[in-house]
Formats: sequence, structure tokens, C-alpha cells
Amino acid sequence: MLEEHLKQYFKFDSFRPGQSEVIQSIVDKHDTLAIMPTGGGKSLCYQLPALINNSLTLVVSPLIALMKDQVDALQARDIPAAFINSSLDGRDIREIEQDVRDRSIQILYVAPERFKSQQFCRLLSEIDIGLFAVDEAHCISEWGHDFRPDYRAMAKQIDFLRKRPIVAAFTATATPEVNNDIVKRLQLREPHIYVRGFNRPNLHFFAREGLKDQERINEVLRLVKSMQGSGIVYALRKKETEEIAAFLSENGIKAVAYHAGLDKNLRTRIQQEFMNDQHKVICATIAFGMGVDKADVRFVIHAGMPKTLEGYYQEAGRAGRDGEKAYCILLHAGKDNSLHHFFINNSMTQMREQGKSQSEIQSVVNVKYEQLRAMQNYVQSNSCRRKAILEYFGDPAVKDFDKGCKSCDICLHHKWSSESKEKAIVDKALDKSPDKKGEMSGTIMETVKLYQANQTIEEIAKIRSISERTVFGHLLEWYIAGGDFAVDEFITKDEEKQVFEAMARAGDLSKLTPIKEQLPEDFEWEKIKIVVGKVKRIRI
Ligand code: ADP
Ligand code: MG
Repeated sequence: MLEEHLKQYFKFDSFRPGQSEVIQSIVDKHDTLAIMPTGGGKSLCYQLPALINNSLTLVVSPLIALMKDQVDALQARDIPAAFINSSLDGRDIREIEQDVRDRSIQILYVAPERFKSQQFCRLLSEIDIGLFAVDEAHCISEWGHDFRPDYRAMAKQIDFLRKRPIVAAFTATATPEVNNDIVKRLQLREPHIYVRGFNRPNLHFFAREGLKDQERINEVLRLVKSMQGSGIVYALRKKETEEIAAFLSENGIKAVAYHAGLDKNLRTRIQQEFMNDQHKVICATIAFGMGVDKADVRFVIHAGMPKTLEGYYQEAGRAGRDGEKAYCILLHAGKDNSLHHFFINNSMTQMREQGKSQSEIQSVVNVKYEQLRAMQNYVQSNSCRRKAILEYFGDPAVKDFDKGCKSCDICLHHKWSSESKEKAIVDKALDKSPDKKGEMSGTIMETVKLYQANQTIEEIAKIRSISERTVFGHLLEWYIAGGDFAVDEFITKDEEKQVFEAMARAGDLSKLTPIKEQLPEDFEWEKIKIVVGKVKRIRI
């Protein structure tokens, strides 16, 4: 039944994962929150109900640049749609408003700031809206990445409508804080919530941990050389985008840097050139992406670990929107973590300066640490990447990958070429690495050898006549230098979380005592050391 409508209006053969459930929910007149990834097909989830229900649908979207494309695409299908935003002059706007009154428009797109216009609010008071669709709904939340105060004003307007429409919200952001905020701020009534479509079968996921700076750049070059088509290399800082672009260019790859520090016209030009395949690689900060709709991006390489997994997936998800095979590769280097800790520390200082209360600061920082931890877990994990992503987002499709996905580095048993990570670790442990000279002493390596021979801490302590605490200390040092000490056997996720929260409260990560003071009295030092070790490990 829904399929027939899909064919009739859009000429598509089948729904993407999750679309039919979301559409059915809206057609059945439930308030709905749909969380689907970029490229998952969210627009259709409000466009099709708009046509089936045959009443006016108002779509709020912050992306003026994309509004016109969407409306053009609908009009090309003979669907009466229009948009009102600041790109139109007063006369055009009045004309469209009249069409809305005459019911000759079925889908009307507006930007959120429209709700500040008295003229527009008057129009709203005169008409009935069947469906109120809020696209990019995370913009309503300060927890999200692009908070827009205008979204708050808009939420209040729903109350003033003469008949309450069905309210449906759409986002690719899956953090619980953001989603709770959307439900609360939009005052969704008993919403049906769907997390769907996060599995992108054509994307292949690879992640590599703990590279050094130069190793990482070399690896980017090696990967880019081996890839067909064009792609994006994301870096955390503007300077790095330029360094990587220069390095790739020197090595014969057509590459260009893109970041918010560049002139607006230049950015538009670069974007256009990339769309036209004039560059093989765009080296960008996250400033590049929103509103870029190049379907045949063949690879997205991260030369820098993002601060959240949803940020990562949003960016990585720009690969392969045409459904053809594409690669998402995350190259993590030691410095990424300290950079994020530095950012979090900065944000604490900033919040203090803004006069935020300690408890407010704490809850924000806790969330940030939690997000960072999820991102690190993804990088460090030895199990299926796809499963980890689906689990994180809470997509029920995760159950299809109990036995792995056959398309990530873990499931493919991928061996990274060039200098292997294992070799780097061994070098470091054996004290070959020049910058770490003298750090890993012979006595530590004695302990490590026994540990590698599967002796327990207790046994090692007996064999070596040293205390268990010392053995633990040795293994932790080895771990910090990159060794495979299974620290997670000694701490639960919940305890780890407690320590991270204590770190946030303590503010000072250089000493253990302030952290210990924030924890229950009987909380073991060893567990604090493990968490601090995890942070340090990634700083090396
Ligand atoms: P999102 O807003 O979730 O990022 P879009 O709504 O922009 O994604 O959809 C991405 C692309 O997928 C669009 O070009 C759209 O026309 C296409 N699309 C959506 N649903 C389907 C479908 N069922 N079959 C084929 N193409 C689809
Ligand atoms: Mg969209």
C-alpha cells in the first residue's frame, strides 16, 4: 500500500531501511522522531505522508541552500511545493503565502527564522497544517553540534496554531541528550521513536590506532594512491589540512585544503571543483560537508580522531552515497586524545568565564568525556566495526551482524601494511624508539615477558618476588607505551565512567589525589591508574 504511493509519486521501487515504518507512523497520525543517518532518506519520510494525507505540510529546515534543490526536485515530480526564506523578495513571499491560503501548495519549506516574521505568523493563524516536519531537529538542542536559537522560538509557535498538527522530527544525531531535548522542546506527544538505517552495506570500515604524526601522513598518501576515484581527508585542525594537502600535492596527487579560515568565495569554488572531479582529494576540517551532495565520494579518511562517534559517522557517511563500494578509514595518532582533552579543558574554562554553575559545567563535561570514550572504544576495539556503530546508535539491525560483517578491518582480518603497529609497539617496549629512550626498563620487560607467557599477576609476583602492586605497575607502564595489557579485566565500564566523571570534577588530570578525592573512599587506586593510563596511552 505505501509502496504503491512510493511508485506513484516518486517512481522509486522500494523503501530504504526504516522509511516505511516512519512513514506509516506519521500516516497513522503519531508524533514521530526519526533518527536516520545522513543519506538515509529522511526527506521522503515527510514528503510521502504529506501527499498521502493530502493536507498542508510545513517543513522547517535550516539549510537554505538545500531548500531550493528539494523544492525543485518535488516540482519536477509535479508535486506542488514551495519555499519561503531570505533569498526571496517581499513580493515573491506574498505570492507564495497566497498560494498557501488557496491550498494550491502542499509542501511548504521554511527556515526557522521565519517564525519571527509577524506576516508569517499571521498566515499560520489562518490556515490548517496537517504535518509539521522539523528537519535537522538536533538544531533545537544546545547539546547538538549546530544549536540554532530560532528553533526554540519555532517550537513555541506550534502551540499557537489553531489546530495542533502531527509533529515529526528528523535528525542524524543519536545522542540520548539531544533526542530527549528534541522530544521535550518540541513537546512531542507520545512520540514513536525510530532509530533506523544506520547500516550502510556498501561502506567498508577500517581503523588504525596509535600512529605517529609522520607515519599517519605517510599512510594517508599510501591509501590515497591505492584508491580509485575521489575522496575526503578530514583533519582536526586547519593547519593540518594545509600540511596534508601540500604533502599529497608534492607526491603527485591532486589535493586541496578546505577550512573555515578560507575566503567564502574560494571555499565555494573549491567545493564546485571537487564536485566536478577536478581534485582527487579534499583535505578538510569539519567545515566541509554540510550541504555537499557528491554521491560518488569513494573514500573518507580521517587523519585525526573526531570527538564523537556520531561526528565520525556523519563525516564518514559522506562516502558512497551512490551505493557503490566506498572506504571509511580512521587513522588515529597519539596526539589526537590529548588534543581532545585540551579542548574539553578549554571548554570548562570558557564555561566558568560565562558564569555557568559547577554542576552545569560538570554535566556538560561528563557528556563530552562519555562521547570521547565511545569514540576511543571504537578505535581500540577488536570486534566488528559495523556492529560497534550499530550498537552505539541503537539500530536494531545490529542483530544481523552477530557473526561480523565481512567488510571491516576486523572481520577481514586485515593486516596493515608498511610498518605494522605491532612492530612499533615492540620497538617501543624494547626501547628502540629514539624519543622514548630509557622509558621501558629491563625489569618491566621481565614482567611483560611473563605476562605474555600467560602468567597471572599473582603468579608473576611470586616468580619475581615482587609485590602484585609492582607487577601491576609494570604492566600498566607497558600498556601506556602501547603494550597489550588487558586492563579492561580490572575495571568495569561503570567504574571507568565514575573515574572519568571524577576527573572532570577534579579538573586537574596531572595528579591522582584530586581525582581520588572525588570518588568513594574505598575506590581502588589501581582503577584510577588504569583510566589515567588509558588517557596517557593515547598521548604517547
Ligand atoms: P537525508 O536527509 O536522510 O540525508 P535525503 O532525504 O536527502 O537523505 O535522501 C538522500 C537521497 O536518497 C536523495 O537523493 C533521495 O532522493 C534518495 N532516496 C531517498 N529514499 C529513496 C528510496 N526509497 N529509493 C531510492 N532513492 C531514495
Ligand atoms: Mg536531510
